[in-house]
Amino acid sequence: MSDKITVTRPSMPQMSEYIEEISDLWESHWLTNMGIKHKMLQDKLQEYLDVAAIELFTNGHMALELTLQALALKGEVITTPFTFASTTHAIIRNGLQPVFCDINDRDYTIDVSKIEGLITDRTCAILPVHVYGNVCDVEEIERIAKRHHLKVIYDAAHAFGVHYKGKSIAQFGDASCFSFHATKMFNTIEGGACCYRDEALGRTLYQLKNFGIRDEDTVEGVGANAKMNEFCAAMGLCNLRHVEEERNKRKKVVERYCEHLQNVEGLRLNQRRSETDSNYAYFPVVFDKDRFGADRDEVKEALAREDIGVRKYFYPLTSTFECFHGKYRTDNTPVAVKVSENVLTLPLYADLALEDVDRICQAVIKCKR
Ligand SMILES: *Cc1c(COP(=O)(O)O)cnc(C)c1O
Repeated sequence: MSDKITVTRPSMPQMSEYIEEISDLWESHWLTNMGIKHKMLQDKLQEYLDVAAIELFTNGHMALELTLQALALKGEVITTPFTFASTTHAIIRNGLQPVFCDINDRDYTIDVSKIEGLITDRTCAILPVHVYGNVCDVEEIERIAKRHHLKVIYDAAHAFGVHYKGKSIAQFGDASCFSFHATKMFNTIEGGACCYRDEALGRTLYQLKNFGIRDEDTVEGVGANAKMNEFCAAMGLCNLRHVEEERNKRKKVVERYCEHLQNVEGLRLNQRRSETDSNYAYFPVVFDKDRFGADRDEVKEALAREDIGVRKYFYPLTSTFECFHGKYRTDNTPVAVKVSENVLTLPLYADLALEDVDRICQAVIKCKR
């Protein structure tokens, strides 16, 4: 039990395990540029995520941004505003226009019934988010994409290790991009990956993360520098050994939260589609002020007074960011507006003590009027 509870706490291996993992770097002096750790992690993740191919990146954002670039998209991309800044920025930084689709109020993923109404002759792709690790309606998205010849790129930053109908989530779409940021359920300190099928796309991704260089004499593309270094890859190798154990610990935390909160009037807990499993990455709670008595911001303040950190994840909607100067409407994404104004994600990490979960829940319930 601890006094101050943070919303997240990165998983780390034993220090000795990490030191052992990095010790051969002092012999090789090969610190980055697709070294041996990079190769080993790539192979292990390909197996763990059960995918045909995977490319590692310095972070999840660059995986997403360079995947959009590699697909050479032009025009409009249908996406969700209920996400982290990265999703929308990746679109705009590629010179593409985001078209914001509403989310559904069950699992907060893109509302597939509203996608086709947003398709124009400029639409080139759909970029849905498996938000909180909740699986999108991948089947309907695939049908729509096929019918209209659109690419599908999943922002799978939250969905590491998740399955739908027994199939790895990383297998869906033209590409699925993951984040291995320190705060994610599997981390490489900073890191990310793109899972894909098309070999030609893979070659382009490999080039784009290394300045567009093809070989010593040829620079074929205008790439960035987005390579994962050896120390990050080594962290990933260590953390991957413990990922199942971490997932089980997170599961216990989530179950404890549910015991306390599932029957509290005015609280809406996370729901997943059937035939999906969970990686227990986040614990979002949506507050209904009319039935709970207190609103989201009041609860956040009350918890802060008790040294419990929570996040308004995701608020504000990306479509309302100051940097866009009111360019995007929100009247056609009413569910996203409502959820973002009423959601809090509660602390969740593998080593969160169950007594701390009890304390957090008591503090939440105390706000009820
Ligand atoms: C974390 C995150 C990203 C970006 O990943 P980084 O590794 O932090 O660059 C993208 N999309 C979503 C939804 C995220 O939560």
